[in-house]
Amino acid sequence: MKLRLATVWLTGCSGCHMSFLDLDEWLIELAALVEVVFSPIASDVKTYPEHVDVALVEGGVGTSDNLALIRQVRQHTRVLVAFGDCAITSNVPGLRNSHPGADTVLERAYLQLSDSSGCLPQAPGIVPELLEQVLPVQAVVPVDVYLPGCPPPAARIRAVLEALLRGETPVMEGAELIRFG
Ligand code: SF4
Repeated sequence: MKLRLATVWLTGCSGCHMSFLDLDEWLIELAALVEVVFSPIASDVKTYPEHVDVALVEGGVGTSDNLALIRQVRQHTRVLVAFGDCAITSNVPGLRNSHPGADTVLERAYLQLSDSSGCLPQAPGIVPELLEQVLPVQAVVPVDVYLPGCPPPAARIRAVLEALLRGETPVMEGAELIRFG
């Protein structure tokens, strides 16, 4: 039976997903072994499905939408992989944590730095609310595998996926597999 694979994009730059695409021709081999059930780069599914074997989660938890999605992901996923430094440490999006709270961040970005008539984004139900801080994934839900890098190189992503496809927990040791940045 094919492994049910998801990739999830929280508050990140999509660079980790681009590195996933750098798997190049191995993606064809991977496609024969997995069913991609949720992914911003491989499907148009909007609702996170049940019974997911592996989820690669890019990005920190920075919005109310991120929070709801990561809780769904955890509930329905057997192996949750924190995919990249933003998921593990909050990294680049976490730079906004030096500002005290979401309102300060919004005012800085949309009012103080605007050219002229700045206004705050307000569309309840459409624009998700910022959380007060960007949190690493493990601050919100348990993580099973940490896959560092900004972004993780394709070879490192492949090594992790190959272990998971063999039914093993990846052993993250050595500079090849655990270097940040
Ligand atoms: S870890 Fe780096 S590449 Fe990945 S989402 Fe964050 S900033 Fe982008």
